[in-house]
Order: sequence, then C-alpha cells, then structure tokens
Amino acid sequence: MAVRENQYIVLPEETVGKKRGERWLDSLKRWLVRCPQCLEVRLVVGAHENDQYVCKDCGYKFTIKF
Ligand SMILES: [Zn+2]
Repeated sequence: MAVRENQYIVLPEETVGKKRGERWLDSLKRWLVRCPQCLEVRLVVGAHENDQYVCKDCGYKFTIKF
C-alpha cells in the first residue's frame, strides 16, 4: 500500500515538469528570428515584434515579425 501511494504522488510532479519545459520551448521558438535575406535562423533572446534586427551573417536590416 505504501509504495502505491508514493507512485501516485510522483506521477503528477513529472507531468508538471514536462509542461514547464514546453512553455520554455515556446518562449525559445518566439525568439527564433529568420533573416529574409539569407534565411539564417538566429536566437534573439528577449526579441519583440517590430524590433529592428541586423543579421549577423549578411548585415541585412529587417523588422522582426512572428
Ligand atoms: Zn542574413
């Protein structure tokens, strides 16, 4: 009995951990910016829509759109 109770406690914790990971991944995907000139994908942490971004590869300046 005692072992089964422990298993029931552990399972919900694993589910919460996975959901947190997915949310973190969503934030990461939002910060992925693709240059329309050379199609290079860059991770711009904290990027906002309509921000100006200069491509590190080709120097092309563009506005971030999600
Ligand atoms: Zn570029």
